Amino acid sequence: MNQPAALARLQKLAIEHRLHGDFLSQVLAAASEAHEGQKRKDGAPYIVHPLRVAICVVEELGKAENELVAAALLHDTVEDTPLTLDEVEKLAGPRVRGLVDLLTKPKLKDKAELDRIYFSRLRAGDPGASVVKCADRIDNLRDMERSGWTNEKKRAYLAEAREKILPVARERAPDAALVLERVAVEVESRL
Ligand code: ZN
Repeated sequence: MNQPAALARLQKLAIEHRLHGDFLSQVLAAASEAHEGQKRKDGAPYIVHPLRVAICVVEELGKAENELVAAALLHDTVEDTPLTLDEVEKLAGPRVRGLVDLLTKPKLKDKAELDRIYFSRLRAGDPGASVVKCADRIDNLRDMERSGWTNEKKRAYLAEAREKILPVARERAPDAALVLERVAVEVESRL
């Protein structure tokens, strides 16, 4: 799904589910501005990924909630762009700030320590963060299929979903975990 298609789909979903259109438009504008100039691995504008994650939250994970959609749109901003948590809070309120905070990887060189902190915070925090995390990995797994990664690298990324994300998601967002698990099985079967 390219950017115009994703935008049209999200707008349609927002109307169908009576989401707060003005609020989400403002959030999307801020996310687009923050990610301006960044590209996905396939060369697409980066914002297509947060858009697809937001669509997945509503359409596939069944969570038609303004704050979760906003968090999906903003989930990579604080980690990868100059946008700050204070700006996220001003824009979208304290719950979205908390969700984006939980979804932002701590800046640590030691990957094991980083993962330990990241996943223990996810496990203890707002379950909505686990919902968005599942949608994020679902989109990244689908993108991975189109990537030039070796099968070994693809298998390692699938293993990370199974070993690190799914155990937390099963506790915090079991319905979303089921969908992620199903997508992981589908993607693996096509390797
Ligand atoms: Zn992401």
